[in-house]
Amino acid sequence: MISRKVAVIGAGAAGLVASRELRREGHEVVVFERSDRVGGIWVYNSNVESDPLGLDPSRAIIHSSLYESLRTNLPREVMGFRDYPFVAQMKDGRDPRRFPHHTEVLHYLEDFANYFGLIELIQFENEVIYVGLSEEGEQLKNSWVVRTRKKGEAGSNSCVANDVFDAVVVCSGHYTQPNIAEIPGIDAWPGKQLHSHSYRVPEPFSGQVVLLIGNRASASDICNEISTVAKEVHVASRSTMNVLPIKRLGNSNVWRHSMVKCAQEDGTVVFSDGSLVRVDVIVHCTGYKYYFPFLEISDIVSVDDNCVGPLYKHIFPPVLAPGLSFIGIPWMALPFPIFELKSKWVACVLSGRISLPSKEKMIEDVEAFYLQLKVAAIPKRYTHCLAENQFDYTDWLAAESGCQPWEEWRKQMYKERQRNATARPETYRDEWDDEDLIVQAHGDFGQYSPTEVS
Ligand SMILES: Cc1cc2nc3c(=O)[nH]c(=O)nc-3n(C[C@H](O)[C@H](O)[C@H](O)COP(=O)(O)OP(=O)(O)OC[C@H]3O[C@@H](n4cnc5c(N)ncnc54)[C@H](O)[C@@H]3O)c2cc1C
Repeated sequence: MISRKVAVIGAGAAGLVASRELRREGHEVVVFERSDRVGGIWVYNSNVESDPLGLDPSRAIIHSSLYESLRTNLPREVMGFRDYPFVAQMKDGRDPRRFPHHTEVLHYLEDFANYFGLIELIQFENEVIYVGLSEEGEQLKNSWVVRTRKKGEAGSNSCVANDVFDAVVVCSGHYTQPNIAEIPGIDAWPGKQLHSHSYRVPEPFSGQVVLLIGNRASASDICNEISTVAKEVHVASRSTMNVLPIKRLGNSNVWRHSMVKCAQEDGTVVFSDGSLVRVDVIVHCTGYKYYFPFLEISDIVSVDDNCVGPLYKHIFPPVLAPGLSFIGIPWMALPFPIFELKSKWVACVLSGRISLPSKEKMIEDVEAFYLQLKVAAIPKRYTHCLAENQFDYTDWLAAESGCQPWEEWRKQMYKERQRNATARPETYRDEWDDEDLIVQAHGDFGQYSPTEVS
């Protein structure tokens, strides 16, 4: 097996499991992390960026998008890495709930990093500012220059370090760069706006009329929370039919609307159903953009309408494979266990244990996938949305990497969580019907868990 020198960018969930798998496969691993600790998005920061819409390119970036009260939207059994289950810890300061507070996920990732001795691989407070092909490389995909800047030394050339690697694994996350809804007339509208990236607590919305745009997990949580203090909460989403506003069951001050048509100078917002509301604050819960400012290969891999491509199996740009890979790209899935399988595959491809198809075959595969999306009229921005397709995808990754496919209970539990969250949007974290699956999960955990299984 070939041992390669590999740079991993980021020490969140993806970077941690990638570095573990790469090292297990015998590679020499250096992880660059721009913050001072592991955990990525799970490191809560009560500060927000200077521009609450995240549009000012000169703003100092706050990585995390967590709000203070956030609890996981997945049950811990399905969320954890396969061979390091996310089991409840009966210790002070830990949250044993099935859908725990965000601090518990950070503890879990810290435990994971410590247990597998990953901290020694990480260069903290080192931001990657450039990744490009080495000019000295004889072949295009042979070696990579990674340029890093030590924290606090921006603008100074002396602090910049260059190193050369055989491969770069990108694990820099994609929940930091806000995507904003385009609203005709918004420039003349006098109210306040922010993106959910800059939402932390509900108190500032006390007595206000708030418009939330979006309908995913964050929009739902933020709506529930703000509605306890706001005068009115109006939720606009593409998925609400073009009918007059509907009052939400159980909340006397929450209204559902179709999409926003425009905002007006007098402070009102007009919806496409024709209704009109005077609004104080707009909260854009409209997702995030993939953003890789350090990549100097934009002619080969680019982001178009939130599709990163071309990527073979959401991982390798065919022309640069296997030297460049991306671990954390898919969404609407079980992130940690997917990162684990992707990392195993990448590690084995780099060592030569697994061969990739030819560049031409990979390009063909990506083009066939894009065509499939087009025929099914799936918008480009959903290219990396896996949902139910994650099971075929992970079965494929597992078979390629020679490891066991996901356990049946994990697949069933994910589906059951989707069903329960739809049936009980406000209480699914505390009420469920899949006790039998929990028992099966714990039956499996016994063979791995290095920690106390409750
Ligand atoms: C509000 C919210 C709620 C969520 N809830 C859940 C949930 O309940 N369950 C679940 O499984 N998932 C959830 N997720 C998804 C979550 O993002 C993923 O589970 C996962 O933690 C992402 O890990 P990552 O390593 O890909 O990225 P991140 O956690 O974002 O880590 C990326 C790391 O890269 C570092 N970095 C970035 N750029 C550079 C650079 N240039 N140089 C050096 N370092 C860099 C960052 O500092 C960071 O540490 C949620 C996401 C959000 C936004």
